[in-house]
This record gives sequence, C-alpha cells and structure tokens, in this order.
Amino acid sequence: MTETTYAGHCHCGAIGFRYATALAPADWSVRACQCRFCRMHNALSTSDPHGRLIFEFYDPEQLQRYRFAFRTADFLVCRQCGVYIGAVIDAGGASYGIINTHALDTAPPDIAPVGAISYDDEDTDGRVSRREQRWTPVP
Ligand SMILES: [Zn+2]
Repeated sequence: MTETTYAGHCHCGAIGFRYATALAPADWSVRACQCRFCRMHNALSTSDPHGRLIFEFYDPEQLQRYRFAFRTADFLVCRQCGVYIGAVIDAGGASYGIINTHALDTAPPDIAPVGAISYDDEDTDGRVSRREQRWTPVP
C-alpha cells in the first residue's frame, strides 16, 4: 500500500496541512456537508480513517479555531485570508481531522465526484463517534 502525501494551505500560506493516504483520489470520499458553515465556505471535506493528517501553523497568530453547533470540533480558519482549511476533533485521547479539498495546493485531476450529505439528524454522541470512525487520525 503506497501512501501519497498531499499538501494544502490557506490562500496566504499562514496555515496548512499534510494529508497522507493510500487511497487513490478516485476513491476518496468527497463530501459536501450541508451545514450552514460548509455551505457558506463551499467546503468539500475528505478524510481517511487509515491515513494521517498533520496541520501546520507557520504563522500561529493567524490561526482561528471556530466552534459551532455541538461545539465538538475546531474548524480551522485563517484570520488573514479567511480560508477554511479543515477541522479537528479530540475524542477519547486521540485526534481526528478532515481537510477542505479546496485548500489542496494541487487538486488531483481524478478526484472522486462530490456527494452531498446532511448530518442534521445526529446528536452529539453520534457526531463524535462518526468522526472517530471516519476522520483521519491526527498524530
Ligand atoms: Zn491565510
């Protein structure tokens, strides 16, 4: 299983990530979450429970952590350029994250088609456990 690392950044480069996955881009789960935050950012999320995700804050002062709804995850937004790069949750002593595929430095040309999805029916526990199972481990 060959892992590929994909780098991403906000527009000004203050914050970013390195996302390692063995999944071919055509097999990525690309989700257009229908919550208001994601719709307003036109965000597309992906994650791999068998991958690895490291967020990098080159200019930590520009990092804005934003919480809403059940307030279980930090959505990472750049204060300087306003770009949303991904989100991270701490659960059960571990961390898991998603990336916004629009923040990839180079989007793979063969990336999987987008699926629209709504998580409105979840309660807090359901939301946390889904993220533990599906989001990418953040070491
Ligand atoms: Zn920025």
